Amino acid sequence: MSATAGGVILRRLRDADGSMTLDRRHFLLSGAAAVLSGPVAAQADPIAGLVDQVSTDALVNVVHGLTRFPTRFTGHPNFPTVEGWMHDLMALQGDVTRFGFQMPSGKTRHNFILGDASDTRGVILIGAHYDSTSEDPLNNAPGANDNATGVAAMLEAYRILSGAGLNKSIVAVAFAGEEQGLFGSAALAEFARAEGWPIEMMVNLDMLGWRPPDPNAPMIVEYDMGNAVAGNDAASVAFGRLMANVAAQYTTLNTTHANIWSSDYMPFEAAGFPAMGLYDGGVASPRYGTSRDIAEVIDFDRLEQATRMVVAGVARYCGG
Ligand SMILES: [Zn+2]
Repeated sequence: MSATAGGVILRRLRDADGSMTLDRRHFLLSGAAAVLSGPVAAQADPIAGLVDQVSTDALVNVVHGLTRFPTRFTGHPNFPTVEGWMHDLMALQGDVTRFGFQMPSGKTRHNFILGDASDTRGVILIGAHYDSTSEDPLNNAPGANDNATGVAAMLEAYRILSGAGLNKSIVAVAFAGEEQGLFGSAALAEFARAEGWPIEMMVNLDMLGWRPPDPNAPMIVEYDMGNAVAGNDAASVAFGRLMANVAAQYTTLNTTHANIWSSDYMPFEAAGFPAMGLYDGGVASPRYGTSRDIAEVIDFDRLEQATRMVVAGVARYCGG
């Protein structure tokens, strides 16, 4: 590599990374050209460049914002206020589609969608439910880990991936009605099937920030082993393995795998779409499903690592 090329790289790093990094790079550049190839090669990995954009502050802000509502129980008369907040947060990232559906009570509730779900290049749909429940759901259901964490990861992954120039359409969906029986996702999956949305993978994020007693406890990559439709299993398993690979490369997480179960990917799987998810094992927490599922005990490093995994996995799938 020529000295001129090195100069170009140096200026780019100064703009992107500030003076501390510049000094370090400058020190390296002052040595042999062979020394240069290491850091420059690392910098040139486009997936590393994307995962490093994951912002812990953004994740913290969304979790604290959602848990500021006393409850996000879908059946609560004030749920439309939660819907308005969710809509406005997503609208910071682009045009939001409101998707109405009926609860068994007859109440109309809404999912919110970012991105173009009919893009013929293919769609990666990243979903998370924003409703909550507890032992006292009409009064106190903070739903921090279940599932403000998933919503935070979804929005941060969408922010990064939708701006990355990938060869697929990235779509983010915030679901309501999950805790009563997957009503929001069931309605959208049926609509997507009827409309022929070209969904290549539904990535479901439900509980990502539990701090387990064993800090090395794995993040669970859930993929589709049977369930309602057999023909979509292979794509799900392949994507799950890809996610485990990128976890090893770009995160500090150990991973294991399990079947998909009891969350918003199920209706998509039943509609024939490939579907998988990430999950932290947090139903083992004594706080799960209670009014003690609060933001103060969320492991934001674990949530950040899970978000890095989503960004890296989707980017790798799209050929990044
Ligand atoms: Zn959940």
